[in-house]
Amino acid sequence: MTASDCSFCRIGARELAADIVHASDHVVAFRDINPQAPVHILLIPKDHIESAADIADEHGDLLADLIQAAAHLARAEGVHQTGWRLVTNVGSDAGQSVRHLHFHLLGGRAMGWPPG
Ligand code: 5GP
Ligand code: ZN
Repeated sequence: MTASDCSFCRIGARELAADIVHASDHVVAFRDINPQAPVHILLIPKDHIESAADIADEHGDLLADLIQAAAHLARAEGVHQTGWRLVTNVGSDAGQSVRHLHFHLLGGRAMGWPPG
């Protein structure tokens, strides 16, 4: 897959519209088009990584940036006291539908565990 075929690469490059709520050198965060909670934001690396299964040693700083951005957004969205979830799906059993690494930041309602 090339960047031009990947919708999340195109959102990261600002070629495809999205409600972007945070951007840094390597990370972009935008609201999910089909939200599953009052706060549902996707955090992605700008560079194409297919899933968490493809994380390498060199991605350590990127992951730190991404998780710190999630915590920052949870605070900005007002769910830091009620709690929030950060989850990434890998492969079909987990329900990964977009083959570009993304973390779902979910909050604003009580969530069950384990996921169905
Ligand atoms: P997955 O099922 O791969 O873990 O999550 C993919 C998520 O991306 C879904 O929650 C879906 O609603 C969201 N999504 C898919 N395409 C787009 C898009 O073009 N824009 C936005 N904002 N969200 C998208
Ligand atoms: Zn991509």
